[in-house]
Amino acid sequence: MARAVTLTGVGLFSSLPSRVTIHPCGEHPRGLVLRRTDLAELPAVPARVGHVITRPRQTVLCADPTCPGATGAISTVEHLLSALTAAGITDAFVEVGGAEVPLMDGSSLPFLEAIEQAGRAAVPMRGGEAGPLVVRERIELRDASGQMWIRAEPLTEGDPADALVCEYWLDYGAGSPIAPHRASFALLPGGASAEAYRSQIAPCRTFCTDAEARAMRAAGMFSHLEPKDVLVIGPDGPVDTAERLPGEPARHKVLDMIGDLTLAGGGMRWIVGRVTACRTGHAQNHAMATAIVQRFS
Ligand SMILES: [Zn+2]
Repeated sequence: MARAVTLTGVGLFSSLPSRVTIHPCGEHPRGLVLRRTDLAELPAVPARVGHVITRPRQTVLCADPTCPGATGAISTVEHLLSALTAAGITDAFVEVGGAEVPLMDGSSLPFLEAIEQAGRAAVPMRGGEAGPLVVRERIELRDASGQMWIRAEPLTEGDPADALVCEYWLDYGAGSPIAPHRASFALLPGGASAEAYRSQIAPCRTFCTDAEARAMRAAGMFSHLEPKDVLVIGPDGPVDTAERLPGEPARHKVLDMIGDLTLAGGGMRWIVGRVTACRTGHAQNHAMATAIVQRFS
């Protein structure tokens, strides 16, 4: 980052106003590091899998994930991390003025645009830098039913060199208003694929079915949201909105994968390989990020 940039909005889960300021790394620790500024004297949190608390539908970071009550946790970091990685930002100090990164429009485009406005800057080497996390052999994680899986494999001949290829197969089964579809994206280091990410992945919003939206509202969640604020898909298609791109849900899943897999290297270590997932969510992405660190560090 060449200079600091601030975004303001509302948290998806908290419905509270929040702001996030992305600073150049400067004298702060290397990598992508976050700190809450609304509570006094909270430690900074590296964006790494060892600091993840897995909760439904979001990625949460905490300096001490085992701490009862998760004091100082920062929720919904995945879209911001996705944009930082796609833009080629390996080092940044992110201040969050609340418990949650603002949802913005449910996509990563506002974050990407802000980061691009600020511009990239070279980060001086400090010694001790580690190389990329290269997937050298296949890892596959499946749930007990075998229907939900995520796998990492080495790049194949047709893949761009040094890419992290993320592919998502969305299949909610018969009866779902969302028909099965896939999305794939080849992410390149150093922001080399940022333009393609901006047009193909970044605009794709958080989504749910209208039945899920009704259930969550009945449980008192998301009452601050209008249908147009997220992509709600009913039997007749999107409610009060239109898909920004064909197959927007699977593309958003790829957006989430990129953000969650960033937690393997915390910004500084790039994953080289191909990750494919089917019917998975954040918990499986976190498990894969952990497996990649354990196997290929
Ligand atoms: Zn998401």
